[in-house]
Amino acid sequence: MVERTLCLIKPDAVEKRSTGAILARIEEAGLKIIACRMRRLSKEDAGRFYIVHRERPFYGELTEFMSSGPIVSCVLEGEGAIGKWRDLMGATDPAKAPEKSIRRDFGTNVERNATHGSDAQETARWEIGFFFAEQELLSE
Ligand code: UDP
Ligand code: MG
Repeated sequence: MVERTLCLIKPDAVEKRSTGAILARIEEAGLKIIACRMRRLSKEDAGRFYIVHRERPFYGELTEFMSSGPIVSCVLEGEGAIGKWRDLMGATDPAKAPEKSIRRDFGTNVERNATHGSDAQETARWEIGFFFAEQELLSE
C-alpha cells in the first residue's frame, strides 16, 4: 500500500550539515519527497508535537532540544513508506541501531538521534497535518 509518513531532520543533524546526506539516503531507498521545508519550532510547538510523551521523564529536555535550532520537515511517499522510513532510521538509540542506518551514522545519543519518523498511519496523518497543509503535498 502506498503510504505517507513524516520525516524530521532534527536540530543536531541540521547543525552537523547532515541534511543532504540524509535526504540522499531517502531518495536512494526509493521514497519520494513530496514536501520539504526548514522551520524553527518554539518550545511550545515542540511540546505540542511530542504531546504523547508529556508524562515521560525526557519530555522537558526533548522539547528543549527540538526547539534549539532549525529542523527540516519532509513528507515521504511510497509503498510501505512508514515502515520503510523507520527501517532506514534504525532504533531510537543510535548505539542500538544497525550499521549503515541513519541514526547509527548521524545520531549522537538516544535524544539527539538525527531524525524522526511516524510510527503508524493514524499518527502519520496527524504529524503531516502538524507541518503541512494538504495542498502543499506535491504528489502529482
Ligand atoms: N527520547 C529521549 N530519551 C528516551 C527515549 C526517547 O530523549 O529515553 C527522544 C528521542 O529523540 C526520540 C523521541 O524522544 O526520538 C521520541 O521517542 P520515541 O520513543 O517515540 O522514539 P522514536 O519513535 O523517535 O524512535
Ligand atoms: Mg515515536
